[in-house]
Amino acid sequence: MIAVQHLYRTYGDGPDLLHANRDISFRVSAGEFVVLAGPSGSGKTTLLNVIGGLDSASSGSVLIDDVEVTALSPRALAEFRRDRVGYVFQRSNLVASLSVYENAVLQLRLQKRLTRAARERTRALLDEVGLGSKLEALPAELSGGQQQRAAIVRAVTSETTLVVADEPTASLDSTNADGILQLMRRLNEDSGVTILVSSHDDRVIEAARRVIQLADGAIISDSEAAGGGSA
Ligand code: ADP
Ligand code: MG
Repeated sequence: MIAVQHLYRTYGDGPDLLHANRDISFRVSAGEFVVLAGPSGSGKTTLLNVIGGLDSASSGSVLIDDVEVTALSPRALAEFRRDRVGYVFQRSNLVASLSVYENAVLQLRLQKRLTRAARERTRALLDEVGLGSKLEALPAELSGGQQQRAAIVRAVTSETTLVVADEPTASLDSTNADGILQLMRRLNEDSGVTILVSSHDDRVIEAARRVIQLADGAIISDSEAAGGGSA
């Protein structure tokens, strides 16, 4: 469902030319849970942003369900982001002035898919992740781990086909980080949503079925391509 082909993202030119992503190619099947690993500066955020339509490629292509994301007009790309992709970032995921519930249904509202069933599903999921008593709370009243859980609920309830999560556990303590990881794994298994998560957290990497390792903007290993990696 995701096919990345010879993707490059460069910054600057001449002596200042920097390859944030260089010649990246891989495929991800629908429903996979894939971790992009690599040290800070290896190109994880750049790659997630290009795949998720938040940034454009310098060359190469990204196909998602046969849509060539890298060839969409700005308007079509905005619709693609709204309708197809759920985003989880390291922090500042939630709109500060909206309640937990309103944050969780925000993308569904924008998609005009906020049906009764969708509201109920969102409430059930918030309850399931321990936020049932926080529906009317503002993000500032939640812990970092609770905020990330609400952000993940939003990303998976909005009927997106792909969730990109950029170091979602990086600002959390280990207990909260484990909870977030388990939540993403379970939602991946239950809903079949494809999840791409970047991390340099060993626990995240160890728990993944498939790890794509980046260094200096390039893929240096892919546990699937190597035939291993089943956890
Ligand atoms: P990671 O997420 O793995 O830490 P990034 O994708 O953020 O890596 O960055 C990859 C490389 O691209 C780094 O060398 C970074 O400094 C560079 N880079 C990222 N964004 C920009 C930008 N907007 N302008 C110039 N260089 C950038
Ligand atoms: Mg990053």
